[in-house]
Amino acid sequence: MRLSKFLLATLREAPSDAETQSHKLMIRAGMIRRIAAGIYNFLPTGLRVFKKVENIIREEMNNTGALEVMMPFVTPSDLWIKSGRWDIYGKELLRFKDRADREFCLGPTHEEVVTDLVDREIKSYKNLPLTIYQIQPKFRDEIRPRFGVMRAREFVMKDAYSFDIDEPSAEISYQKMFDAYKRIFERCSLNFKAVEADSGNIGGSVSHEFMVLTDTGEDVIMTCDKCDFAANLKSTPVVFDEQYQIDRKDYLPLDLVATPSLVSVSEVSEFLKTTFRNVVKTMIVSTNQGFEAALIRGDHELSITKYKRFRELDTVELATADQIKKLNTIKGFSGPIDLDIKIYADNAIRPMINFVTGANQLDKHCMNVNFGRDFNINDFGDLREAQPGDKCQCPEEGVLTTTRGIEVGHVFKLGRKYSDSMSAKFVDKNGKEKSFFMGCYGIGVGRVIAAAIEQNNDDNGIKLPLSIAPFEVVVIPTDLKNNDVVKFSEQIYHFLLDSKFDVAIDDRDETPGVKFKDAELLGIPWHVVVGPKSLAKDVVELKNRLTGASEEIKKNDYTKIEETINETS
Ligand code: ATP
Ligand code: MG
Repeated sequence: MRLSKFLLATLREAPSDAETQSHKLMIRAGMIRRIAAGIYNFLPTGLRVFKKVENIIREEMNNTGALEVMMPFVTPSDLWIKSGRWDIYGKELLRFKDRADREFCLGPTHEEVVTDLVDREIKSYKNLPLTIYQIQPKFRDEIRPRFGVMRAREFVMKDAYSFDIDEPSAEISYQKMFDAYKRIFERCSLNFKAVEADSGNIGGSVSHEFMVLTDTGEDVIMTCDKCDFAANLKSTPVVFDEQYQIDRKDYLPLDLVATPSLVSVSEVSEFLKTTFRNVVKTMIVSTNQGFEAALIRGDHELSITKYKRFRELDTVELATADQIKKLNTIKGFSGPIDLDIKIYADNAIRPMINFVTGANQLDKHCMNVNFGRDFNINDFGDLREAQPGDKCQCPEEGVLTTTRGIEVGHVFKLGRKYSDSMSAKFVDKNGKEKSFFMGCYGIGVGRVIAAAIEQNNDDNGIKLPLSIAPFEVVVIPTDLKNNDVVKFSEQIYHFLLDSKFDVAIDDRDETPGVKFKDAELLGIPWHVVVGPKSLAKDVVELKNRLTGASEEIKKNDYTKIEETINETS
């Protein structure tokens, strides 16, 4: 590629709304441009990287025997009604009507479409197992699109779906995908970890997320210092093994106290001269079964994910101030006494007595509150988020610590969730009808690129590995007026082209400084610099962007350039 004919579109400054390094660098390197919140154009440089990641994914999918298909982006509501997700998917699902008033949505994931497809095409166990995949756009109306293509609204996903006759066979399909994911992320030179995860909106029982480890990741990962446990914070279990006995003789009389404008646990505990641990927060949640309250100790946080799973609910979100008001209580002052909804408490509440709660009145709290005496709890469960320092479940009693990560891939065991609800069946070898055993597997292509850049950059720009860099090598003639420089640059360029390198020549009429800066910004791993001074010494310079190393190579020894690149990469 001649950069004089290319749309390089590099910028010296990053836009002010770009928060993360990858977002800033992808814009500065001319890879992407925003056209609306969470909606991006990929420019030629970005698309080159995109295609390389896509090809790695496609090769590894094909190696597992998965078959590529392409399902539509626009999907009809009836499939979603059949699976039961039309009503519970929430606002991320962008719904609309066609001219005949029929309802559709933009596919945020394709379990419904693929289950329907396979149900129609596969009749017998003889055609199983089957895994099919596609690489195509998805739309999720994310509440907070951000970090460029990392959390976009329209993004391209590789989504694969496996269909098996039973659980043992589905386990093999899952493991194949798990291994393929490892190879994909290794080929993209990512530093990643597979962690246990919650299955969220997709459903199913077991899932693993592939996390790229970086301090700027949105996800928090808990790991154990003794065993190899690693899980997303959202689904990390908290071990509750405290031995306790509540002595009812120790109950103190209930007390209503004024706490003017004091809402937070720290303000209330300080004012009432008690500890965080002696305050109980009453979190009102709105669910598909109505309002409920979750009681959480003052120094803990409610895990909506765990609450949803514990209560086996489809949707759970924190209630708004208005909703809370309708329940005859006040945001910031809610408490369990006389609260006319179901109350569930985190296990950490079990041993507590004489604690502080809101009083359901403005500027008032209750002291010396006790369950059993002052109010009743419907059930206790593991409802809080794990914290650093918590115990691991392992027999070695390891301690949990946190790291951060970016979720680039997710593999799920779905079981019969979709095949049952959509009655997708095959005939087994005994002639009996059975529902398919399914799995589903996603990778966000744009997010992989952003994560790779987040993990690999420096002050001068992007440092992508050879496998996914926009070009593998750039030949940089530093002086276009010098015939020798031009001649040798062209010869090297053509040699590298013939040797099947993805090579660019920076034949733009720009200063050497501009060319070097752009080559570094784009993260091209190898730079061959051809300048009058080095040619006078019969050499050219070969620089490695990733290590910073530079060496002089005899100007006619093209194969040495090829060898060095092949050996070092
Ligand atoms: P998150 O928790 O980050 O929203 P998710 O759990 O909703 O992700 P999945 O439904 O598992 O994501 O989707 C599979 C993959 O698609 C993710 O691992 C990620 O790589 C990608 N992905 C999901 N949402 C987005 C998005 N908004 N922008 C870009 N990529 C995304
Ligand atoms: Mg999501």
